Amino acid sequence: MKYLNIALSAASLASAVVLPEADAGKVNYDGYKLVHVETSDDGRSSIFSTASTLADTITLQGCDHGEHVDFAVPAHEFDAFNALGLNATVVEEDLGAAIAAEGPLVPFEAPEAAALPSATWFNAYHSYADHLSFLKSVQAAFPSNSEIFTVGQTYEKRDITGIHLWGSGGKDSKPVVYYHATVHAREWIATMVAEYLLYQLVSGYSNGTTSTFLDNFDFYIIPVVNPDGFVYSQQSTRLWRKNRQVRSGISAVGTDINRNWPNHWDTPGGASTTPSAEDYKGEAACDTPECKVLTTFSNKIAAKNGIRWYIDFHSYAKDILLPYGYSCSARVANLAAQQSLANSMKTTIAQAYGTQFTAGPICSTIYQATGGSTDYLTDTTKVTYAWAIELRGTSFVLPADQIVPSGIEIWNGVKAILPKLV
Ligand SMILES: [Zn+2]
Repeated sequence: MKYLNIALSAASLASAVVLPEADAGKVNYDGYKLVHVETSDDGRSSIFSTASTLADTITLQGCDHGEHVDFAVPAHEFDAFNALGLNATVVEEDLGAAIAAEGPLVPFEAPEAAALPSATWFNAYHSYADHLSFLKSVQAAFPSNSEIFTVGQTYEKRDITGIHLWGSGGKDSKPVVYYHATVHAREWIATMVAEYLLYQLVSGYSNGTTSTFLDNFDFYIIPVVNPDGFVYSQQSTRLWRKNRQVRSGISAVGTDINRNWPNHWDTPGGASTTPSAEDYKGEAACDTPECKVLTTFSNKIAAKNGIRWYIDFHSYAKDILLPYGYSCSARVANLAAQQSLANSMKTTIAQAYGTQFTAGPICSTIYQATGGSTDYLTDTTKVTYAWAIELRGTSFVLPADQIVPSGIEIWNGVKAILPKLV
């Protein structure tokens, strides 16, 4: 078994396929099966250690859903994997084919001056540079009620970039609704859904369908919280999760930003202390550049009127996750109100396509996770409702034709909740 960050050479060497020029340097997942292993009657760690006998199988530990753990198993190890006797189900027969089915990264098409970009943006996935162009273009179409902001810089010196929207009361006059997406690099659908929400909010303002939302809240939306990892997932390793931080004396690259926030970071069991693990929490609380700027920025935007609702968008498990992650016995004071809101969002999400989400606290719904943004924002930033949402999908790789349905069902859920927050 290999952790993903050291899988590049093995995957490349194991493949007999000569990569086309355009894909040089990319990990080739052709022939890998994606396998769910049920954890109901076996612990996660014992499954990982059982699978560790296989040299080229990649663990997708920490993929944020508790009822199973996932492995990418190359063809030459599949019989051996089956012989381990795990309660396993193949969910992607060929990861390489699934990645191909995501389609190409389609370039951004600039609209006429001052017009919103075409909604065809949501028919495909896009490069990081094009996501920035999209954001700037939306802002330019909504100049009196929005601005682009930067949170601060990543390890590789990219600006973490977002957009701030407001309504008739003017900038920073209302409580904040705050959305993050794609802190986990491979969860591309999260960025598309955050942008879908942005697009609906802006396009509906002039015709009045969303004006009360913007008149009641300042929205801060960050479509790509982890741009270093996101770029790496597009240019090299599709299933990359962490940031791209290099640490002295440690050969493995990357820290899980969402296990690094300074909240119960020391509590054992909710993250890995092994640098090569996918949920590696770092060497100290908030020792990633991304955590440092995100905590400062979050507290800054909360200072004036508070943050009413935060969502950290992830994929894939179809969950609405409430605090806390660090403990299954600790309870937020307003848990009953949180659960009631989440239940109503879940009901609304199901109306468009029947997609069934689960709603509940992180620890008891999926598993214990320490150093997550939801717990920090609840306890320190005093966000009223700080949630993580795991979007639809059966793997991190979701065909592009699922972007719009995913956006529609989540937008329906958001529309149902916002009036309840006023
Ligand atoms: Zn995630």
